[in-house]
Amino acid sequence: MNAAPPQVADTHSAKADAEPPLASNFLRAVVADDNRSGKYGGRVVTRFPPEPNGYLHYGHAKSIILNFGLAAENGGTCHLRFDDTNPLKEDVEFEDTIADTVRWLGYDWGGHRYHASDYYDVLYRFAEWFITQDLAYVDSQSAEQMRGTRGTLTQPGRDSPYRTRSVAENLDLFRRMRAGEFPDGAHILRLKIDMRSANVNMRDPAIYRIRHASHHRTGDAWCIYPLYDYTHAISDALERITHSICTLEFQDHRPLYDWVIEKLADGGQLERPLPQQYEFARLNLTYVVLSKRRLVELVEGRHVDGWDDPRMPTLVGARRRGFTAEGFRLLAERIGVSKTDSWIDMRVLEECMRDDLNTRAQRRIAVLDPVKLVLDNFPEGRSEDCFAPNHPQQSQLGRRALPLTRELWIERDDYSEAPPKGYFRLAPGAEVRLRYGYIVKCLGAEKDAAGNVTVVHCTYDPETRSGTPGADARKVKGNIHWLSAAHAISAEVRLYDRLFHVPFPGAKNPWGVRADAAVPEAPLPSPRAVVAGDDDDAVEIAERDYRDDLNPDSKRVITALVEPALGAAVPEERVQFERHGYFVADMADHAPGRPVFNRAVTLRDSWTKPAGR
Ligand code: ATP
Ligand code: MG
Repeated sequence: MNAAPPQVADTHSAKADAEPPLASNFLRAVVADDNRSGKYGGRVVTRFPPEPNGYLHYGHAKSIILNFGLAAENGGTCHLRFDDTNPLKEDVEFEDTIADTVRWLGYDWGGHRYHASDYYDVLYRFAEWFITQDLAYVDSQSAEQMRGTRGTLTQPGRDSPYRTRSVAENLDLFRRMRAGEFPDGAHILRLKIDMRSANVNMRDPAIYRIRHASHHRTGDAWCIYPLYDYTHAISDALERITHSICTLEFQDHRPLYDWVIEKLADGGQLERPLPQQYEFARLNLTYVVLSKRRLVELVEGRHVDGWDDPRMPTLVGARRRGFTAEGFRLLAERIGVSKTDSWIDMRVLEECMRDDLNTRAQRRIAVLDPVKLVLDNFPEGRSEDCFAPNHPQQSQLGRRALPLTRELWIERDDYSEAPPKGYFRLAPGAEVRLRYGYIVKCLGAEKDAAGNVTVVHCTYDPETRSGTPGADARKVKGNIHWLSAAHAISAEVRLYDRLFHVPFPGAKNPWGVRADAAVPEAPLPSPRAVVAGDDDDAVEIAERDYRDDLNPDSKRVITALVEPALGAAVPEERVQFERHGYFVADMADHAPGRPVFNRAVTLRDSWTKPAGR
């Protein structure tokens, strides 16, 4: 693993328009080189190979964008291939959601939707071929014996006593494995490579195991199933993939990948040119967990409201939160593609969403914590239309009328009886502009018995209406939003925030740095130490329960007042509530007459480390 502690990248100040649209990265360079040399005759075929055993998360977006993006940039194709080699964990329901999510991200596999299980017959035939070439054998050691002979990272392995079985005996046993004569675990089929290889993956890896289990696509046709490395390499070659792009943990598997397909090509079983595997660093994000096992725990433990909870780092959750596919593509461009593990700060993702939503979202008014404002000199019963642009930089989007009346709603914290220094909003004697309306002067407020402000009183200056010559005659610093009490409608607003309140949930040092500045900073946890834990054989090194780091304020549901136009919002419509943030009409619960909005992200980053950290 890496010697140097990973750094948390913080590129959030980089703005979209300041960046070249397609920065070079090592994968783009490889593809360009291959196109120049004609290695694949100009073909570029990539694949995204999810296991249909869960929902896709933010990390998968990086892989999808990379694979589909590289293909698209080069006029190639990207296959969607379900890696369904484990009959016990997979489900067709996940396949449909995964396909929908890839489409939501903006990609199309153009008919190239495959399954590893499509190749079971070929994979079996190739296994027999390996046996006939004396390149595979049936091993009958117990799992425990096999562990004993496998060796370690520093110690070579030892040959299995079954390694010298004859081709005929191996073929017979393998066929009987397939015929269902043996129970699970009785035998496995291994490639005959090198038990003394420095690379443990090359120590006679298993390629078939007995599993008396129904598969969601092939039913009971098989009771032996091929293993991942073998299946993946051959699937790639059969689909004539050119660039097989995967995450760094597969680097040590590459010699095996090459061995399998090279042997088959040498034996005339596969066509050249063969695919080439490349590895890139997976996305590690602070303030979330991305391992499938933990995501399942969050859902099953009811820490969130299901897989598509807007706080979940799943892509169905992202969509429901109001995040955009374009925002994820922006993220992929900004973080680039590297060959070493690192952490990306959540701020980078949030900033990408802000930047994208800023251009995409029309502006609307919502008062989240309302208090009444009365314009004492505004005639009762009068309603005067003020006009607000739908987007400050896109005048073609037009404007809409906001009725101004004597009684308005404003934000409670836009009034202060004893304003702190630098407070430019309403206070006794102070003047502010009602956005798109008039300058008002504050007279004071009424309070209830408990001392809470119930009504703020102002007078308005009829000469100062926005858009008239008088508007500029007088300058005021404050500029607050408002809604007519007679016209505003109420809406459920869900204020979502980060799911965890520390950057490294579950790590011994979840802040990544020591609280005590006198002590030298502790290195950040290794990304894999925190993120690993999904694959059957991945090591779990987290030191604390990551659930102890859940943010107790990650969801707050309020009833807010919103402008009438928002009653007509369609589900998934994204808007900016001025001065608050970006919101989306909830795709499941928002309906005419019952508006529900989710906060995607606030307007500015308000996440700072608590004092002392
Ligand atoms: P598991 O292996 O535990 O089932 P997984 O997250 O690797 O989970 P897969 O369905 O196997 O899920 O992944 C599909 C593809 O997405 C793989 O090519 C994998 O390398 C890639 N991928 C998974 N997690 C990330 C990540 N955090 N960043 C980038 N790519 C990822
Ligand atoms: Mg995986």
